[in-house]
Amino acid sequence: MEKLLVVEDDPQLTLLLTSALDREGYQLLLSSNGFDAVEQAPQADLMLLDLGLPGQSGLEVIREVREAQWGLPILVISAQGSEDVRVRALELGADDYLTKPMSLRELVARVKALLRRSRPEPEIHIGDLRIVLKWRQVFRQSQPIELSRTELDLLLALAQSPGEVWSRERLLQRVWGSERGAGVDERVVDSYVALLRRKLGDDPKAPRYLETVFGSGYRFLKPD
Ligand code: CA
Repeated sequence: MEKLLVVEDDPQLTLLLTSALDREGYQLLLSSNGFDAVEQAPQADLMLLDLGLPGQSGLEVIREVREAQWGLPILVISAQGSEDVRVRALELGADDYLTKPMSLRELVARVKALLRRSRPEPEIHIGDLRIVLKWRQVFRQSQPIELSRTELDLLLALAQSPGEVWSRERLLQRVWGSERGAGVDERVVDSYVALLRRKLGDDPKAPRYLETVFGSGYRFLKPD
């Protein structure tokens, strides 16, 4: 479960916040001053941050967290509702701002929305292969592998449905497009599969990733 860091120096409000968030099943870390908030930030998935804090202000906390390149979402909850302060907080790197007194339902909804947005993008892991769909980037043992657009499209078609056999004709339609695919020799698929295997370091006789299904086509092996 996701960990939330609640930074608030008012004990009564802390109690209200923590009971509302606890009901949602979040793990909670508490902090009542700015120095401690910065120290705990790396352990949290999201920070709820009051601005008027003893020691170091909430704005200072935002600045330090962002200077350290920590990307956790920061939701400011503050009685200081002036436009200047709100804009300053957002400029420093806060993600959202609620003015006290706020509705706990709205607070929970915003926490959920921020966490949803900050979740990592889907990836495919197969053995030591990692495909980051958003970046269209492939890594083997953390080393990036340079693939052409066609090689990558071919890999993605196969890797997104592991275990499924793809005929050459279907791959032509998917990767080369049905119109372009119509005039293309099916042996093009074999050539690209060979290129892809070479770049992935895969042996067709003992495949770890890409298997030839005799008489049918190709399939990506299911991750263990
Ligand atoms: Ca305060």
